[in-house]
Parts: sequence; C-alpha cells; structure tokens
Amino acid sequence: MGIEEFPAITTRLDAVQAWGRSNSLWPLAFGTACCAIEFMSVAASVFDLSRFGAELIRFSPRQSDLLLVAGTVTFKQAPILRQIWEQMPDPKWVISMGVCASSGGFYNNYCTVQGIDQIVPVDVYIAGCPPRPEAILEAVMKIQHKIANPRTTPASQFLVKEPHFDY
Ligand code: SF4
Repeated sequence: MGIEEFPAITTRLDAVQAWGRSNSLWPLAFGTACCAIEFMSVAASVFDLSRFGAELIRFSPRQSDLLLVAGTVTFKQAPILRQIWEQMPDPKWVISMGVCASSGGFYNNYCTVQGIDQIVPVDVYIAGCPPRPEAILEAVMKIQHKIANPRTTPASQFLVKEPHFDY
C-alpha cells in the first residue's frame, strides 16, 4: 500500500515544529582559540555540517539558535558571551566545545573562566583538546535529538540551572 493511496497524513503541530527546528539549526560560533579551527573543519567539505542542516553559520546572535562556544573564555570576554546569548531569540541551545570552554582546561589561572556554565546555560559538553570533528557532529545530533524529542528527553535535561555570574 503506497503513500499515494492516503489523501492525508496526520501529525501533531509540535512534532512538525520540532522536526523543522532540529533540522535547521543556525549556529553562532563563539570561537576564541584553537577549538574554533577544529570547528571550521566540521563546516568544511570532509565532515560537512551541512548534512545535518546546520551549515548556515551566522555571526549575528539575533539570527542564531545554537551557540557553539569553542575555546578559552576569559573573564574579560565573559560579559560579551553573556550578552550574545541574551540577544539570541528563544528557543536556543548551547554547546560547550572542548575542555577550555567546559572547565577552563589547563588554564587554571586568574583570568580564565573555569567553565562557561558560570555564564550561560549549557546543553551539551564536548570533551577533548581539541575534540575530534566527529565529536562535534555527535553534539549537534544530541541537540537535534533533544529538540525533536521533547517528550522522551528526560525532564532533567531541560532543567538547566540559570548561571550566576558577577561581572
Ligand atoms: S580545548 Fe585544547 S584545542 Fe580547544 S581551545 Fe582549549 S587548548 Fe585549544
């Protein structure tokens, strides 16, 4: 029995909305160090982020829904990162790429933020220094899964603690 025999397909509006959102992510790359170079390779032809519908990299927060923080973040940069995140329209998601963004990495010093979750809520962390391009693709897929399956994703994943940061 072919699809042509059915005059209509039924679904839910929120399912269509989630499907559309998950397959048309517009990333904003907040690249501050070497991880940003690795991210560039993901956008290039070999790994081809375009296959996941997320190739339209914007450098305008008002046109983006996926903030990808790639690199070390200093306390001087922290207010800028926070402002960019605040300017992004809802719904929005955040990927922390690499140990520097996720925990400060080996820059355990006075000027480095020890994890961007002190500044913005993070949805997915990527381990590594730098993470392999495959890991970045997996993070994008995790975000897509989270968006497309709001009912099956554990509620705890949506309880992102609002960070507190004194500028
Ligand atoms: S995690 Fe490694 S590759 Fe990424 S910004 Fe830090 S030092 Fe560079």
